[in-house]
Amino acid sequence: MSEPAYVLDSTAFYAGIPYQGSGRYYTTYLVIEEVKHHSVGSSLIHSRVQVTEPSAESLGKVKSTANRTGDSKGLSDTDVSLLALALDLSRADGGATLVSDDFAVRNVAELLEIRLAPTSLKGGDWKSITWKTYCRGCGKEYSNPKLTVCNVCGTPLARKASTA
Ligand SMILES: [Zn+2]
Repeated sequence: MSEPAYVLDSTAFYAGIPYQGSGRYYTTYLVIEEVKHHSVGSSLIHSRVQVTEPSAESLGKVKSTANRTGDSKGLSDTDVSLLALALDLSRADGGATLVSDDFAVRNVAELLEIRLAPTSLKGGDWKSITWKTYCRGCGKEYSNPKLTVCNVCGTPLARKASTA
């Protein structure tokens, strides 16, 4: 059993990532550019975080998925690089969890079947969360994340986090 792996966006650095624990932490050079003037960021970069570039194949897959969902305008180059890195690592042994609070990032990650965690969970206790799609009108739950409108009552669907 390998250690849990996390891919960190810049808000994860600002929120504070765990010093303790057995996790492996990854990020991209574009994130380091954003956080390098931040005092917490610079000390962690040298000790715990591996800075890795995503593959061109994964970058292309993230961009085409974001175009399909209409999220491409909400994603910065940094966001795209993180999603692509998480996609690369999710194919590796044990997979990886992407730590981000950004809505567009989470939306695209869900379609790419990348595990997600919010930055608000600290102390090495980040849990993977999944997103449930449900109807605000009648309460029906859907497993297909691509649906946007309820089949039963026509209300636009919403999402909620599930830590199950
Ligand atoms: Zn409904």
